[in-house]
Amino acid sequence: MVLPDAGHLGTPLTPGATRVLLLGSGELGKEVAIELQRLGVEVVAADRYADAPAMQVAHRSHVLDMLDPVALRALLDAERPHVVVPEIEAIATQVLADVEASGLRVVPTARATVLTMDREGIRRLAAEDLGLPTSPYRFAGTRHELDAAVAAVGFPCVVKPVMSSSGKGQSVLRGPDDVDTAWAYAQTGGRVAAGTGDGSGDHAARVIVEGFVPFDSEITLLTVRHTGGTTFCDPIGHTQVDGDYRESWQPAALPPGVLERAQEVAATVTDALGGWGVFGVELFVVGDQVLFSEVSPRPHDTGLVTLVSQDLSEFALHARAVLGLPAAPVLRLGAGQGQDAAASCAVLAEGHGVPDVAGVERALAVPTAQVRLFGKPVVSGRRRVAVTLARGADVDEARARATRAAAALDVRLV
Ligand code: AMP
Repeated sequence: MVLPDAGHLGTPLTPGATRVLLLGSGELGKEVAIELQRLGVEVVAADRYADAPAMQVAHRSHVLDMLDPVALRALLDAERPHVVVPEIEAIATQVLADVEASGLRVVPTARATVLTMDREGIRRLAAEDLGLPTSPYRFAGTRHELDAAVAAVGFPCVVKPVMSSSGKGQSVLRGPDDVDTAWAYAQTGGRVAAGTGDGSGDHAARVIVEGFVPFDSEITLLTVRHTGGTTFCDPIGHTQVDGDYRESWQPAALPPGVLERAQEVAATVTDALGGWGVFGVELFVVGDQVLFSEVSPRPHDTGLVTLVSQDLSEFALHARAVLGLPAAPVLRLGAGQGQDAAASCAVLAEGHGVPDVAGVERALAVPTAQVRLFGKPVVSGRRRVAVTLARGADVDEARARATRAAAALDVRLV
C-alpha cells in the first residue's frame, strides 16, 4: 500500500486507515505503538512470541519468525501496511527490499536495515566510505583469522559477533590467553549462524575485533530525519554493564566543541543511511575526539530517558517522522525550572518466570520518579522488565532519584 499524502491520516479499523506494521514488539516498540495510536494510526505488532509488550497496545498482533522470508511475506500480504517499522535487527531483509521496491515505506529504508543489522556493514560504511573516526578494527570468520585480526588490532581489544546486540557474545581481551575463550563465547552469542564450536567449519559466526577505546564517556545522539530536516536531541550519557545499558541521563556534559563534532558525525552517517525516523547514534568521547561506534535506525534503549526529558519523546518523534510528518523542535521539559536534567535506570530480572513487581508505591515516592513496567509475559535468562525515570536539578540528582526508585522495586519471577 502506498501511503496517502503526508498530513493525511485515516481512521483505524476502517478502509481508509493508515496502517503501520511493527516488526518486533518489545518495550521500545510498545512506546512507538502508543504514540502511533495517539495519531489514530492502525497498529499491527509482530514478534516471535505472543503477548509481547507492543502487542498489548496494538490493534492486532501476529506471532512469527521474522527471519523466515515466506512467513514475513505472508504477513505483509495479509496486513497490507503503509509503513513497516523494524524494531529489531533479526528480520529477513530481502523481503523488506522487495516490498520497498513495490512502493511500501520501510523505516528508515530497506538498505539501512541491511547495513545496520550487521556490524560489518555499518562499520565499513562509516569508516571506509564516509571516513568517520572509529576504533581500529578487523573482521574474522574463523579461529585462525581471529589470530591475525587480534595481532593487527593489538591488546586490549573487544571481540563481538557481527550479528549481535546488547553485549551478547562480546568480550574484552587483555592478552593472548583470552583469545580462545573470546572466540568460543562469540560463537554462542550471535543472532544467526551460531558456530560449530571449533570455528573450523563454514558456519562459524563472523566477529569484529575492535581496539578497546579508553573513552572518557559514551553518548547516544538521537538524530531525527524528518520532512522538516534533521533534528538532534540533547546528548544522552549512559553506563553499560556487560555491553547492556543500565543507566542513561540527559543532557550529557561534553567538552567544548565535542557536541558540534558529534552532530557532524551523526548527520554524516544518518544522511548516508537515508529515510525518515529516529536514529540512535552511539559515540565514544575521548578528550575532544569523537569516535563513531554504531547506530540503530530506530529509537534507542538509552533514549527511554526522553519519556520524561522532552515534550516529544524519541518514540513520539519516531512516530511522526515515519509518517512523513515534521518532528521538530524538541523542548526539554523542566529546563530553567530547577529540573534541568533527567535520568533513567533499567530494572532487570534474572531467572525464569512471569515478572511480579512489588514496591511501586515506594518507587513513586521518590521525588519526580516515574515507572514504566514493560509487561513482558515471561522472563528467561536476564531481561529488562522495567525502567525508572526521574528529573532533577542536575544529572547527579536525576540519576540518584532514578536509581533510588529502581532500588525500591522488587521484581520476582513467579
Ligand atoms: P555495542 O554493542 O557495540 O554497543 O557495545 C556495548 C558496550 O560495550 C558499549 O556501549 C561500550 O560500553 C562497550 N564497548 C563496545 N565496544 C568497545 C570498544 N571498542 N572499546 C571500549 N568499549 C567498548
